Amino acid sequence: MQFDVVIIGLGPVGAALANLLGLFGLKTMVLEREAAIYNLPRAVHFDDEVMRIFQAIGVAEEVAGVARINPGMRFVDADGTLLLDWPRPEGIGPNGWNSSYRFHQPDLEQILRRSLDRFGHVTTRLNTECTAIDDRGSHVEVHYRNNRTGETGQISAGYLVGCDGARSFVRQTMQAAMDDLGFRERWLVVDVLLKRPRPDLGDHTVQFCDPARPSTYVRCPENRRRWEISLRDDEDADEISTSGSVWQLLAKWLTPQDAELERKAVYEFRSVVAGEWRNGRLLLAGDAAHQTPPFMGQGLCAGIRDVSNLAWKLARCSTGCADDSLLDTYASERIPHVRQYIETAVRLGGLINTSATQEALQAAFPQADGSARMASIAPPLGPGLHNAQDPRAGRLFPQAALANGGRLDDKCGTGFALIVDEDLLAEHELDRYEKFLVQTTRSEPEIRRCLDQMNARAVLLRPDRYILGTADTTTELKHLVTQASKTKKVS
Ligand SMILES: Cc1cc2nc3c(=O)[nH]c(=O)nc-3n(C[C@H](O)[C@H](O)[C@H](O)COP(=O)(O)OP(=O)(O)OC[C@H]3O[C@@H](n4cnc5c(N)ncnc54)[C@H](O)[C@@H]3O)c2cc1C
Repeated sequence: MQFDVVIIGLGPVGAALANLLGLFGLKTMVLEREAAIYNLPRAVHFDDEVMRIFQAIGVAEEVAGVARINPGMRFVDADGTLLLDWPRPEGIGPNGWNSSYRFHQPDLEQILRRSLDRFGHVTTRLNTECTAIDDRGSHVEVHYRNNRTGETGQISAGYLVGCDGARSFVRQTMQAAMDDLGFRERWLVVDVLLKRPRPDLGDHTVQFCDPARPSTYVRCPENRRRWEISLRDDEDADEISTSGSVWQLLAKWLTPQDAELERKAVYEFRSVVAGEWRNGRLLLAGDAAHQTPPFMGQGLCAGIRDVSNLAWKLARCSTGCADDSLLDTYASERIPHVRQYIETAVRLGGLINTSATQEALQAAFPQADGSARMASIAPPLGPGLHNAQDPRAGRLFPQAALANGGRLDDKCGTGFALIVDEDLLAEHELDRYEKFLVQTTRSEPEIRRCLDQMNARAVLLRPDRYILGTADTTTELKHLVTQASKTKKVS
């Protein structure tokens, strides 16, 4: 077999997966059909969990350099009256990063691609389209064609991951059906570059819940600004995309004296999740596995979460450390998680698109004090490796600041990590846990605080920093270690 893993598609999700597999030392090939990074307007937002994954990849500082902290999102009616507020907390949050960032998707993709250069064992081929896939049981055979030279060829790998976007060829090959969650609308998306400062446009994202023309404004980094504008059924995509028509639609916010049109595209926003994410040695991730309307800015985020969940499992299976049934937990953990984001985005889209009355918003996102305020969601993983009876497991463990100023995840590296109260550890012989990185809490007040908040004396973290299980007694600690051993050798 030539490669441990072949990835189809070098979009942001394929590039993130290639980096993670590179860190795990897997011999990886990425086939990408296009010559250059996609340059029509797409993602502008990612969250703190995703920044934490960029940290694991080793690009967080560089990404932070091209990103902007997002203060939040406001929903207003046709008269500009505030209907619903979704503020983002200021400062560093539990994941060790700000809770929400604005960015330019090609910048991120450039950084992720560049960072692959450090791995001699990760190869990328541009202009190279995957044309056929044959799962032979013991390995996968992948056929490709170079669209520039016409050259064809074949490679073999242990696993193949389709990160090949919404029209995924891999998904079609797997014959995986899409579960439609019911949202389907056309929106015009326009990026402009301001020629002069326009602070009056504001730093918050604004959802204009105007039944006559629902639309969204986004404050992007530097002088870039985004408008997303819904189309009526009778409007023609080509006609509405002409410069004259776009300026008419933007007229209530700005004129050609203020800005130049940079990029525009009409998209059909959909809400779909593939029913199957694994078939034998074939797997799906990113838009190939799910698509969401962009109202929460979570499509790309979900794809990055997919590969964080998948990469360490592929590493364990590829190196013979675990039975490949471990890969079944990928879909079972991720599908319920991503569905919660998509369902919330569909709910938001429904409110933006209908006459979003104050009553409707309050009914959809009620707060105890009677106001309409929304908070970010952080659902647990679906059923998989963790003990479903333990409500603390299956959730992301906070990235506590270390006493030396460092970050917990950097200390934990790519393996499992046991975070444990010294007293509990002292009741048991330490060498039992030598397979894990053991981080004790006495000299680490922030870690201790996290454990206290969860009311736990020990937590075992997976390589993706989700909690595999918790323990309060030595018996539970022993059980936890046995549970981890279900993925065979741990470390
Ligand atoms: C208007 C808009 C706004 C958005 N806003 C946000 C946001 O704010 N936040 C957010 O998180 N998400 C957002 N998204 C979603 C986000 O852009 C996507 O989820 C993300 O780009 C998907 O990445 P991907 O790598 O899965 O797929 P893609 O980026 O589509 O990459 C797939 C790659 O596979 C390649 N490929 C396809 N078939 C083959 C083949 N047979 N052989 C070889 N290569 C192949 C393609 O050329 C492509 O490069 C938005 C999307 C849109 C349209």
